[in-house]
Amino acid sequence: MPKTVLVVDDSAMMRKIVIKNLKDCGYEVTVVEASDGKEGLEKFQAGGVDLILTDWNMPNLDGLGMVREIRKLDPEKKVPIIMVTTEGSADKVKEAVLAGANNYLAKPFTPDRFKEKLGKFLG
Ligand SMILES: [Mg+2]
Repeated sequence: MPKTVLVVDDSAMMRKIVIKNLKDCGYEVTVVEASDGKEGLEKFQAGGVDLILTDWNMPNLDGLGMVREIRKLDPEKKVPIIMVTTEGSADKVKEAVLAGANNYLAKPFTPDRFKEKLGKFLG
C-alpha cells in the first residue's frame, strides 16, 4: 500500500519540487499538500499520514510550531517528520530535533541527498 506523505510548504513551487523528487526516487506515495503549518496540522489531524515533510518559514503557524503541535498529539513519534528548509545552522537543526523532528534536509538539495534522507522512512 502506498504511504501517504504530507508535504507542507508555503511555496507552491517548492511543494512541486519535493513531490517531483518523491516520484523521481521511485516511491509509490499518495501526497497530501498544505500551504502553512496550520493547514498541515489540520491535515495531520484528519488522519492517515505516514510521513511529514515540512518547511520551516511559513505564515500563520511555522514549521517548528507545527512540529510541536503534532508531537503533542503523537508523543511517541509514530509519524516521522523531516524539516526541509534553508535554516540549516547547527542551532536550528538542534531546535528542530528538540521540537520532535526526526531528520533535517537543507534546501537546496540534490536528488541523491533527498533519497539519502528519505530512504529509511520510505524505502
Ligand atoms: Mg517558506
